[in-house]
Amino acid sequence: MICPCCKSSEGVSMHPVLSGFQCRLCHHVWRESAILGNMDYYMDKMGRSMTPVQDLERKFQERFDFISHAVTGNRKLLEIGCAEGLFGKFIKEKISSGVEITGIEVSRDAHEACNYLDRVHHGTMESFIAQNKFDMIMVFHVLEHLADLEGIIGFCKNNMVENGQLVLEVPHGSGNRLVPYDRHVEHCHFFSTTSLCALLEGHGFIMEKVATGCYESATYNDALRVLCRLDRWPENKLQRFKERFEILFGHKCIVFGTGKDFFNWIEPYLPPNVVVAVMDNNTALHGHKVAGCFIDKPEHVLSQMKDEKILVTTYRYTQEIVAQLLKLGVFPERIVTMDTFFQL
Ligand SMILES: [Zn+2]
Repeated sequence: MICPCCKSSEGVSMHPVLSGFQCRLCHHVWRESAILGNMDYYMDKMGRSMTPVQDLERKFQERFDFISHAVTGNRKLLEIGCAEGLFGKFIKEKISSGVEITGIEVSRDAHEACNYLDRVHHGTMESFIAQNKFDMIMVFHVLEHLADLEGIIGFCKNNMVENGQLVLEVPHGSGNRLVPYDRHVEHCHFFSTTSLCALLEGHGFIMEKVATGCYESATYNDALRVLCRLDRWPENKLQRFKERFEILFGHKCIVFGTGKDFFNWIEPYLPPNVVVAVMDNNTALHGHKVAGCFIDKPEHVLSQMKDEKILVTTYRYTQEIVAQLLKLGVFPERIVTMDTFFQL
């Protein structure tokens, strides 16, 4: 038996209470459910989000606050298991930009969702044919119902843009702060933060936000919510570093500072042949070759190079170095500090 989240077999044993399994490594618990794989069961359902109005407002506001920074501009969103489409409606009411929301819903609630969302697929995920890739896919309280976790994560990957984001919410363990076990007949997966993150990271997602104790309802008052990004690290990061470097420096850069910050954050990723000079205040370093250049004293370098931008690669002494450069007559527009470089 292999853990469906961390894929290890070493820590798997029978669960002492629920008739299922547990993984000692990632603390995932799973079991077979009587209604598993029977989509007819869900097709006849209605009112899947029906909870007291104040509960809906609270959970929608929490979810919105969690993702609002990422839902800007003309983004294309997909909600798998959108029920009546009320969260999509909530988003559209809060955001004036042209966010476009598609929903997938297997139950009869799909009919109501048509009133609020831009497009609704009434049917299963497998029968959905996308017209475009999505910037963000949202899946609230669906995973715990599905035996095949690989299927839904694979579906999300196939239907999102490069670097797309995924928002997932599931009960955290039992989903309740007072009750140790969730005996909901539809639920077959009980996630820990470790197991959910292991599942997603195993598929190339990078966690951006993780929260527990999220409010779904009075009974499911401890939900686990994550926002993650499909990031085929490290290639994507290297590409973004290169683009950033080109935007800030073009093809020529003077480096100021050859300490640990430079060798940790900059030097291994420098595009070839862009560093035209390297300077440092430490005279003991002068004459050593770094990034293809001999380290020199600032006054000497600056007397010969009047236009190239300067990357200050000493984070801790940024203020002192900037003051020194200004005193040497360097225009502020030529100076790029580490916080400017890495600020997104
Ligand atoms: Zn595991």
